[in-house]
Amino acid sequence: MTRAEIVVDLAAIRHNVRLLRELVGTTMITVVKADAYGHGMVEVARAARDAGAEWLAVATLDEARALRAGGDTGPVLTWLTVPGERYDDVVRAGIDLTAYSVAELDEIAAADAGVPARVQLKVDTGLGRGGAIRADWERFFARARAGEEAGAWTVTGIWSHLACADEPDHPANDAQQAAFDDALALAAAAGLRPALRHLANSAAAILRPGARYDAVRVGLASYGLDPAPSVEHGTDLRPAMTVRAELALVKHLAAGDSVSYGHTWTAAAPTTIGLVPAGYAEGVPVAGSGRLEVAVDGTRRPLRGRVCMDQVLVDLGGDEPPAGTDVVLFGPPGEGRATAQDWAEACGTISYEIVTRVGGRMPRRHVDPDRDPDRDPDHDLDPESDRDDDRGPR
Ligand SMILES: *Cc1c(COP(=O)(O)O)cnc(C)c1O
Repeated sequence: MTRAEIVVDLAAIRHNVRLLRELVGTTMITVVKADAYGHGMVEVARAARDAGAEWLAVATLDEARALRAGGDTGPVLTWLTVPGERYDDVVRAGIDLTAYSVAELDEIAAADAGVPARVQLKVDTGLGRGGAIRADWERFFARARAGEEAGAWTVTGIWSHLACADEPDHPANDAQQAAFDDALALAAAAGLRPALRHLANSAAAILRPGARYDAVRVGLASYGLDPAPSVEHGTDLRPAMTVRAELALVKHLAAGDSVSYGHTWTAAAPTTIGLVPAGYAEGVPVAGSGRLEVAVDGTRRPLRGRVCMDQVLVDLGGDEPPAGTDVVLFGPPGEGRATAQDWAEACGTISYEIVTRVGGRMPRRHVDPDRDPDRDPDHDLDPESDRDDDRGPR
């Protein structure tokens, strides 16, 4: 018996990371920020390393500390700090910091960790978010080079981030890449020789070979979700997350009966309705009220009425599956399942938000069908997944 849970298929993660790494033919930085987009950072980090990810990336220093505490010893990039952050322990842990400004470089210099920091420089080429603006590049690079000569740090990388990578024809892509090339030339002129130049996120890594440089920073696609759903690209990604629950109750409705808060839905004809014990506290978006679909024992069914905090109602169309019947809220395609992308479209959002927000009271369970074929036979989510894994059990 499990009320509601998140199941994450680590073999799918390995499959995606390996496939993407082969596709791009350059260094793979797997992005595991925000608890690996809701998939569990430490477990995903291990799977990504096993599949060949040379680097991991997170946003915050605390996320990087948690990676080290979870046993990861490899290269890790971070990129989001605020003035006054404590740097010395992360510098000693060999974690790469990203600096956006001279002021931030000054703070890193003052941290005095006892060992040189590893610093990557971020330039804003048009996203208008983090990163040094063009007018500051020369001063920024000069300060970075001076700190390197003084032994405060090594500049290990220079990078930027695209605004419209999921729209390959958007003119911002060419403009940003040209600006990035300008920044690289200025950095070289300042005497910087960073080993890692990187620009591409998932969408650009897949769709824009010219943006791959020395490395790519791939988040969403590692989880098997499509970073550019409106573009045909045929990449064989396998969604790693399944959110499932068990029906708590099944009851009959007469024509004219309404369900849930506000009585926003009324049965036009007699039907049966099932209570799914997960709601917006678990990350089921209220915006999906009356729009989302789930799979009940392998059959696609519509949710009815408003999404509540703890529960939602599913229309069973007159069928009477017993309480306890398996309900897949979303998961990999097949067997009637809606996908995270289907949910995103129903709610007017992106799959990133759907997977990153699920959780709440739901436990998360990691399965590894390749390495543990006997485990969890009832919920073998994708028996075909990752047959190409050649590592065998650990
Ligand atoms: C989140 C993030 C990524 C990963 O983006 P995806 O679209 O998930 O691949 C890459 N770079 C930066 C700077 C990010 O913030």
